[in-house]
Amino acid sequence: MMRMTVLASGSKGNSTVISSSRTRVLVDAGLSCRELLKRMSQAGEDPAGLDAILITHEHQDHIAGLSVLARRLNIPVFFTEPTHRAWVRMLTPRTTMTYAKWLDHMQREKEARAAAVAASAPNSELAGQLAEESRIIAGIAAEAAALGRSDDAPNATLELPIDPDEDDLCAPDSQQGAAQKPDPTYLPAVEYFHSGIRFSIGDIDITPFTIPHDAADPCGFVFEAEGIRMALATDLGYMPPNVKAALKRIDVLLLESNHDLEMLRDGPYPWSVKQRVLSRVGHLSNHATAEFLQKDYDGAAAWIILGHLSESNNAPELARLAAEQALGNQPTLLGNRVLLAHQEAPLDPITL
Ligand SMILES: [Zn+2]
Ligand SMILES: [Zn+2]
Repeated sequence: MMRMTVLASGSKGNSTVISSSRTRVLVDAGLSCRELLKRMSQAGEDPAGLDAILITHEHQDHIAGLSVLARRLNIPVFFTEPTHRAWVRMLTPRTTMTYAKWLDHMQREKEARAAAVAASAPNSELAGQLAEESRIIAGIAAEAAALGRSDDAPNATLELPIDPDEDDLCAPDSQQGAAQKPDPTYLPAVEYFHSGIRFSIGDIDITPFTIPHDAADPCGFVFEAEGIRMALATDLGYMPPNVKAALKRIDVLLLESNHDLEMLRDGPYPWSVKQRVLSRVGHLSNHATAEFLQKDYDGAAAWIILGHLSESNNAPELARLAAEQALGNQPTLLGNRVLLAHQEAPLDPITL
């Protein structure tokens, strides 16, 4: 048995549950923790049964509820290393320093280190070296100050793209919330995978594949258990050969059908955003998806779920029509049934 339950799909949040009879994983956590738990219960998926969370890429619509949900369920999160690093950077408050401030900071660090070394090994080579470096930096700082590199930038900017109330809402014990905010990048456990290299969680074999998209190291996944294969391929600018190759012999396929080209062209987005969506690291159009289904797809799937539909630049019926027309000549009579994934509500689970 394998089951796919799409909890949400679209630019306001993505999340899908993949289960075998023994293992259950969540792919992406792009809604708040509370909303994810609500949708899982609506769809009959017990959150307590989740074994892990897998992340395709670090865009907000794929990670919004990640840290809170992972902490709440106390389960590991699987990323590629570049995606994890990009995510940590996104959530880390950034300090903007001027050159003079940076020098001052460096000097103080050197001095502190020199003092610590001098205390434990006063005559060592390292102590002498650190003291010398500290003197050099002090000299540069003095010169910089003299040249009038004044400090006119704001001292620090804090960027925390997480709803500050989120932890309280989703904390296991709501009494705890007030005391201390946890580090937003803290996760109970982090595991790394590499695109192209198969790994397993429980009895599900997982093959991640690279997708062309403007993120650090984005990927799609093929899941296999008990002879059934399910795949997720959204957030890709075009269909490169490696993705076409990965999507062979898939029984349930969640595939992006993001926008109608004309609706995007005439739609409300500023031109820069239109260019980004249309680019080779943006999103798949209905047309590109149809072209894949017509020319490269092997016709093996029982179900094709069209996902990541744009609310501003697509109409569900246009996406469906394009895909169904492209599939028109496929020989499988019982397969290739087309479903549309929604932004606002979970789809009924698909079980094979
Ligand atoms: Zn994305
Ligand atoms: Zn996305």
